[in-house]
Amino acid sequence: MANAIYPGSFDPITYGHIDIIRRASKAVDRLVIGVLNNTSKTPLFSSEERVEFIREAVKDIPNVAVEAFSGLSVDFAKAMDASIIVRGLRAVTDFEYELQLSQTNRKIAPEIDTVFYTTSLQYAYLSSSIVKEVALFDGDISEFVPEFLVSKIKDKIHQKK
Ligand code: ADP
Repeated sequence: MANAIYPGSFDPITYGHIDIIRRASKAVDRLVIGVLNNTSKTPLFSSEERVEFIREAVKDIPNVAVEAFSGLSVDFAKAMDASIIVRGLRAVTDFEYELQLSQTNRKIAPEIDTVFYTTSLQYAYLSSSIVKEVALFDGDISEFVPEFLVSKIKDKIHQKK
């Protein structure tokens, strides 16, 4: 077995991400969720908030850790002593971007491989952007994210409006 990272924006974490985390954590020794602190995107939540939310959401899974990072995923993988990058695939629309990303990463760091988990069908439609869109118009997001996040997301969206 090996160590893996699961990098992403997680702005905010959804049940779709949590499903991938649960499944991937069973296949590796240690899974580190890498919360990307990306200066070119303006996230709804700061990386500190996103890390805190994910820690709360996955606290029952023993071999999962959560850290913020900036820069390249392959460098974060090396820093975490991981040889696998986990990503999720929802639809063919994800595929083209994910393929390009994984091939670029392989070019930069051939010793690190990307492993894809295909979405569980019940979460195939789910993305962080959809959650924010529904919350903005006061729709019900309780099927998309853990209960403790529902009011935090709605409050933050309305603050920023
Ligand atoms: P990024 O900005 O890096 O795409 P995201 O937080 O949107 O970060 O997603 C992180 C990873 O999780 C990506 O590989 C994405 O395809 C995957 N993912 C997101 N939502 C789902 C879902 N509902 N089912 C499966 N995988 C998902």
